[in-house]
Amino acid sequence: MSGIEARPMIPVEVAMVRLLEMAEATPILERERVLLAHAEGRVLANDLVATLDLPPWPNSAMDGYALRLADWAGEPLPVSQRIFAGQAPEPLTPGTCARIFTGAPVPAGADCVEMQENAEVQDDQRVRFIEPLKTGQNIRPQGQETTVGEQVLAAGTRMGPIELGLAASLGLAELTVVRRVRVAVLSTGDELIEPGLPLGPGQIYNSNRVLLCSWLQRLGCEVVDAGILPDDLEKTRHALGSLSHVDLILSTGGVSVGEADFLGHALREDGELSLWKLAIKPGKPLTFGHFRGVPVIGLPGNPASTLVTFALLARPYLLRRQGVTDVAPMQFPVPAGFTWNKPGDRREYLRGRLEQGRAVYYSNQSSGVLRSAAWAEGLIEVREGTTVAEGDWLNFIPLSEVLG
Ligand code: AMP
Ligand code: MG
Repeated sequence: MSGIEARPMIPVEVAMVRLLEMAEATPILERERVLLAHAEGRVLANDLVATLDLPPWPNSAMDGYALRLADWAGEPLPVSQRIFAGQAPEPLTPGTCARIFTGAPVPAGADCVEMQENAEVQDDQRVRFIEPLKTGQNIRPQGQETTVGEQVLAAGTRMGPIELGLAASLGLAELTVVRRVRVAVLSTGDELIEPGLPLGPGQIYNSNRVLLCSWLQRLGCEVVDAGILPDDLEKTRHALGSLSHVDLILSTGGVSVGEADFLGHALREDGELSLWKLAIKPGKPLTFGHFRGVPVIGLPGNPASTLVTFALLARPYLLRRQGVTDVAPMQFPVPAGFTWNKPGDRREYLRGRLEQGRAVYYSNQSSGVLRSAAWAEGLIEVREGTTVAEGDWLNFIPLSEVLG
């Protein structure tokens, strides 16, 4: 054995730590102001600090009646005002109650809201309260959610619909976010042809290009689609050289130790190359390097390998480049619905799903079979050196977690 084959395999978590360190060494520093409506998927550049209390004033959680318990001896009360959401109330007249609706400000002097279902309007229009009352009931106090000066979201948060809602509730119309990461996607291989064209002898359709381009867009990246690169050193060098304006060149294929490892050759000559033999299945070979200063990640070409290595390694790397703190996908233990008798030397990520609460995997786990992942709901982790009995708990990474 020679070259990469002779090297020890790198555990997934070690590769992850190294990639994240490299991401942190070249953070995206540019910032931009974007409208809230355009901020979905963007990364917050600064902490988001509340400039007002939420809610800004005590308000009613119910449709009902506001009153002051201290003044109340249990007798029916006349209604002195009606307060709808969006109105500014008068202070409560002592010895009265106020008709109040959900979201309306509780008038000064009132300290309790009774829901209308527990109130009875008498013939004389006074209101009788049927149930015992408690101070503060059905009132959402001022600052219940947050108070002025409190950090509501930290820098490095990815803005999803919920975070955007929160920013809006604080009155923000724009946010300062990190510039999108610019990623060039290169598919390598003489055998590749784009869908829509007739398939020639020995050719296959390029599936990784659209897979990665659409995925990267979901991750908030700016995608530079660099097309198909033939297995040719000169053309590889030229293609890499034309991508000096991107933050990352992401290629697929051509990273195995075969003859056609032109990406590796180009990096070795004009940059810097680390060839990693990862203890991961699918997806053993992974290239990381620089071409004239531009970081390059070379993922294995088999579509299921591309998917798994992108999900587990390239995705966190790209998020961290944008300053995202929380880059590890959520995972949770699920009981195995299968047995696994042969311990592997690589950590295996089976494309699987949950059936009746148990994890099962697609019948064909070949790294060339993308259908396994289309069938799957997630990746079932089988750790290296382990066997699995039915009911054993295994980590499950939902694909929905990593796809966005
Ligand atoms: P390679 O790493 O270039 O040796 O590619 C490994 C396998 O993945 C080969 O069977 C390739 O034909 C296949 N492959 C590489 N790139 C792609 C692609 N963009 N779309 C579909 N299959 C690919
Ligand atoms: Mg190839």
